[in-house]
Amino acid sequence: MLKEEILDFIVCIRCKGDLKKDESYLICNKCNIKYPIKNSIPHMLEEHIIAIDEE
Ligand SMILES: [Zn+2]
Repeated sequence: MLKEEILDFIVCIRCKGDLKKDESYLICNKCNIKYPIKNSIPHMLEEHIIAIDEE
């Protein structure tokens, strides 16, 4: 299980900012990107980053 405390350690690799936890993603609102969480493990490499489409 992904524990909430983990979020205290994990920051966005681009801006070093805080991330918001979604059901299956960690989201950086600053960069408009999200990192997938698979099997409760956040994938935090540049190659895993998914761009969030802007409205
Ligand atoms: Zn960021």
